[in-house]
Amino acid sequence: MIQDLHSHTYYSYCGKDSPEAVIKNAISCGIELMGISDHYYGVVMNRPGVTYESDEHRIITHNNALKRYFEHIKTLAEKYKDHIKVWCGIEITAVDKGFTLLPDGVDVSMFDYCLIENFGCKGSVVDDVFAFAKRCGCEKTGLAHMDLNAYILSKGINRDAFFRKMNEQNVFWELNVNYDSKHHFREHRYVKDFFENAGLIDAVKKSGMKLSVGFDGHLLEDYAADRVINTCKRLEELSVPMIN
Ligand SMILES: [Zn+2]
Ligand SMILES: [Zn+2]
Repeated sequence: MIQDLHSHTYYSYCGKDSPEAVIKNAISCGIELMGISDHYYGVVMNRPGVTYESDEHRIITHNNALKRYFEHIKTLAEKYKDHIKVWCGIEITAVDKGFTLLPDGVDVSMFDYCLIENFGCKGSVVDDVFAFAKRCGCEKTGLAHMDLNAYILSKGINRDAFFRKMNEQNVFWELNVNYDSKHHFREHRYVKDFFENAGLIDAVKKSGMKLSVGFDGHLLEDYAADRVINTCKRLEELSVPMIN
């Protein structure tokens, strides 16, 4: 299945297009499973300097904004269901920039999946990614644009055990094939490394954990569907299962 599980719309500050435009474009490109995964802090319109009367007010405001976004995407999923499968996701960062973290009490469990970004990066406040995935409460959780193999090596973690745990807890690993003006046409090296590392591919397959492919699109004029399609096909050829 040709999938792209990482995309941004105008719900993210950094995204440009409407969700409907993103979905229609995906259909025209031959994507079969499309995930919209806007930034949490974008959807709830959290910015530096935004204040709330109380913590309770903040939680209510955020939950309402998340619900509106979710229902918008679900309406579109229904509208285009004969042409494409659409998942509604949310991208949550592990790095605290003062307005970016998911506050306690805010519910994201209704989303089809969440993407956790910046886990393991400098400034990450998440130590246990499995506990964090549980707190988010989505059926599936993805580790976005992460050099997971480098992380595991640097922490001295048992790779096979970690991968098995990912499988057990429905945590998948994203191969991010972004290449756009938003990110200064910078490729993620770890994706290339993955395909050159037979041992790693083998470990992934043995563990049963799933991968995903995501372009991380922010503006449609930069969308390179061939990068998404080729990566999905390479995984299929290698019999590496993708989340679905
Ligand atoms: Zn991201
Ligand atoms: Zn993203």
